[in-house]
Amino acid sequence: MLGLAGAALNGWFGAVVPRLREAEELRARAGCRQNLTVIAQAIRQYRHLHGGRFPTCLEELVLEELLAEGHTRCPGPLLMQGQRGGYLYVPPPAGAPDEPYAPLVCDAAMDNHHGRGGWVLRRNGRVDWVYPPQFGQLLSEWAERGAVSRPDTSARPSSTHVR
Ligand SMILES: [Zn+2]
Repeated sequence: MLGLAGAALNGWFGAVVPRLREAEELRARAGCRQNLTVIAQAIRQYRHLHGGRFPTCLEELVLEELLAEGHTRCPGPLLMQGQRGGYLYVPPPAGAPDEPYAPLVCDAAMDNHHGRGGWVLRRNGRVDWVYPPQFGQLLSEWAERGAVSRPDTSARPSSTHVR
């Protein structure tokens, strides 16, 4: 084994760097899921205060101090490229039938998690990881419907726009 130190070292670099990235991505995924859980609570509180009405955008939750601004950003792009990724939010139309599994909030771009999918918060508060191609389909459907993403207030490049 000692005679193979060079080869072992190369193997170490080969294995450890992707493992570090993997650990960062897992941490980003956990943080992102937590964000959506907190957003779900904030939306519930908002609806309680506004006679069942959904907020028009996530920024409204921040303005009403129901949600900390930090929770409106996916930590994935922040960890990996120093960029900030946002979330898309599509409130159900007023008077729409109750669809508990319909998506309400999701990662705004496939890039938020390296093209491997994204988190989706459903109207019933459930948070699911959705893999491509279904996640890509959701993003393009929402882009067509003019999904409301959080307005970007930072000067940095942002992923709040699909495409
Ligand atoms: Zn995310």
